[in-house]
Amino acid sequence: MSLLTRFLVRGTVERADRAADRMRRVRIACPSLTWTPGQQVRVHVNGPLGPRRTYSIWDFDGRAMELRVLDHDGDGPGARWARTARPGQEVWFGRPEGGFVTRPAPYHLFVGEETASAAFGPMLRALSPSEEVYAVVEVDAEGDRLPLPGAVNWIFRHGAPAASSASLVTAVRELRLPQRPGVAYVAGEARTVQAVRGHLVRDRGWPRRAVVTKPFWTPGRKGMD
Ligand SMILES: Cc1cc2nc3c(=O)[nH]c(=O)nc-3n(C[C@H](O)[C@H](O)[C@H](O)COP(=O)(O)OP(=O)(O)OC[C@H]3O[C@@H](n4cnc5c(N)ncnc54)[C@H](O)[C@@H]3O)c2cc1C
Repeated sequence: MSLLTRFLVRGTVERADRAADRMRRVRIACPSLTWTPGQQVRVHVNGPLGPRRTYSIWDFDGRAMELRVLDHDGDGPGARWARTARPGQEVWFGRPEGGFVTRPAPYHLFVGEETASAAFGPMLRALSPSEEVYAVVEVDAEGDRLPLPGAVNWIFRHGAPAASSASLVTAVRELRLPQRPGVAYVAGEARTVQAVRGHLVRDRGWPRRAVVTKPFWTPGRKGMD
């Protein structure tokens, strides 16, 4: 085992195309992975020594891992990698990691935007159909929606920025939820994540530990993980 494969997984791009208007699907054939839905991998986007960018695992079928990468306007190395990935290309990435996973709860609330929906897909699919679930997902336009199971409240920014999104907080504020707290999973742009948590804790009286947050990106910061 080489030093590289001790710490990293080597995969090969099998397919790279569009999963939604601004969302790339990258399918990477790789050795078996142990993962929990909601976890992420750090991809070395320009070879094993290149910069790392973090992506949620959309799916792993025992042979290949699928990612959903937003082709955002920021044009960073991660977005460029997903846009230019071609079948046969080698990819190095770290093993699945992270605590943004579902936990036992009276009910589950998912809140986030495009990038968060890449984590919500596998988390929602893995929940038993008997679980009570609420989801509010904000995307720019209808064509940016990824297929998420269940009744999702989709809201649209139509050109407004995803950062510090007041419309997402308003949509959560207007959501009819049971009186008692559930567990919330809030991901995406960092300031929006904070604002949603603030609403749940301050206005609805949820305990802080009932709100699981994961900031994925924020303007001006490169490669959050
Ligand atoms: C745990 C975790 C899981 C993640 N999972 C996913 C995932 O499954 N799919 C996914 O697409 N992203 C995901 N992200 C976010 C992703 O890692 C960042 O968007 C990524 O770092 C952007 O890399 P980049 O090289 O394209 O841009 P960077 O060089 O990192 O950023 C350059 C600039 O682009 C802008 N920017 C970055 N991301 C966005 C964005 N999403 N929308 C608008 N502007 C942006 C910002 O202004 C930023 O300063 C995840 C992040 C974390 C921490």
